[in-house]
Amino acid sequence: MTQSNLPQFNNTDQAFKHLTNGELSRAVTLFSLLGKPWLVSMGSALAKLALALRIPVGWAVRPTVYAQFCGGESIADSEGTIAKLAEHGVQTILDYSAEGQTEESNLDHTCSEVLATIHAADGDARHACAVFKVSGLSSNVLLEKVGQSLRGEVKLTLEEHAAWERVQARVRTLCEATHQAGGRIMVDAEESWIQDAIDAIAEDMMSDYNRDKVVVFNTVQMYRHDRLAFLETMVARSTEGGYLSGVKLVRGAYMEKERSRAEDMGYPSPIQPDKTSSDKDFDAAVDWVLDHLDQVHLVAGSHNEASNLRLCEGMRARGIAAQDPRVSFAQLLGMSDPITFNLAAHGYNVAKYVPYGPIREAIPYLIRRAQENTSVAGQTLRELELLKQEQLRRSSLR
Ligand SMILES: Cc1cc2nc3c(=O)[nH]c(=O)nc-3n(C[C@H](O)[C@H](O)[C@H](O)COP(=O)(O)OP(=O)(O)OC[C@H]3O[C@@H](n4cnc5c(N)ncnc54)[C@H](O)[C@@H]3O)c2cc1C
Repeated sequence: MTQSNLPQFNNTDQAFKHLTNGELSRAVTLFSLLGKPWLVSMGSALAKLALALRIPVGWAVRPTVYAQFCGGESIADSEGTIAKLAEHGVQTILDYSAEGQTEESNLDHTCSEVLATIHAADGDARHACAVFKVSGLSSNVLLEKVGQSLRGEVKLTLEEHAAWERVQARVRTLCEATHQAGGRIMVDAEESWIQDAIDAIAEDMMSDYNRDKVVVFNTVQMYRHDRLAFLETMVARSTEGGYLSGVKLVRGAYMEKERSRAEDMGYPSPIQPDKTSSDKDFDAAVDWVLDHLDQVHLVAGSHNEASNLRLCEGMRARGIAAQDPRVSFAQLLGMSDPITFNLAAHGYNVAKYVPYGPIREAIPYLIRRAQENTSVAGQTLRELELLKQEQLRRSSLR
């Protein structure tokens, strides 16, 4: 693979090779429907109502949004998806996300589910790494309080202290198992008011497990105006401490929530003033990491065509090979296939998050995917346009 051969994200043959004609039609129908905000709002409201009233929704959800955005009901059920991605040079990141749990038994259960994803990836090159959310292993109330205590604003009670020890033990179990398996694990980033606790635990794990190679990756959200500086200090701390950093760079998923909380509670919003500023910092962070690959390894989690292309160009300009294990790309299953599969065809390390789990439990995730595909209308339309182009291309061959 030559360095000058940059991917063309509008190569629809390459982008959708993995889809049968039937799957292509399903994606066209689905993305056309997701482009209608009124329909997405109505569908989301109905799905929430059905969940609350325990009305079965599987018949409507399984062949549509669930088939598009989820791997299956279990790891074994996701095997077809994992195999298909691997056939086209794309790795899997199994994503078990339980949300809003507070009971200790549920937190332990999430921990064992994530552990199962680590074991599934062990020795299987079709998997890129594991991933988890700290909020799946701790109550959010505790994470917020720990953040306040780290900033010296409050003291934890004995009971909170013990609960935090249990959270740390769960995170350590996951990182230790990943280390034993010779794999990698990413800690997702979440809302700013719980992020200080997440950063603290992620850095703690990096310091323990990233001595010789990068096992643990923290996530940095560039829609926050303070994160470029944070990224640099996080890496400086690791270099001083004699370990490597791993970073997943994303723009950030909680913008509306962040802004409205800041407004309600009367503090300055941590979010950039506009999209251009988020884009600028995302690109600046990518450039900075590419210039410091001896200290920090990168996973770029983005569906933005320009950002992905810019990263490829940045690698080429610095003489970094597409296959360099220090740089990876990631997208979510069912989204931005033109980016993922064209990157794979050009030899880049690229993976899809493959969420899995029972349909009812996946509904909040599916509602977010539907809403995201409505709110980033430009991107959804672009994907729809490419899907339709591929349908035309295939029919012209018949
Ligand atoms: C593999 C992967 C892993 C991810 N992991 C995480 C994670 O751990 N934590 C997390 O929070 N998110 C995560 N995300 C989601 C990510 O943060 C984005 O929400 C999503 O990918 C859309 O951003 P984009 O770069 O793909 O593209 P774009 O569509 O170009 O960017 C949209 C994003 O830009 C920002 N933005 C939009 N409008 C404005 C505005 N007016 N002002 C300021 N900023 C604005 C927002 O962050 C918005 O989500 C992940 C995404 C992927 C693909």
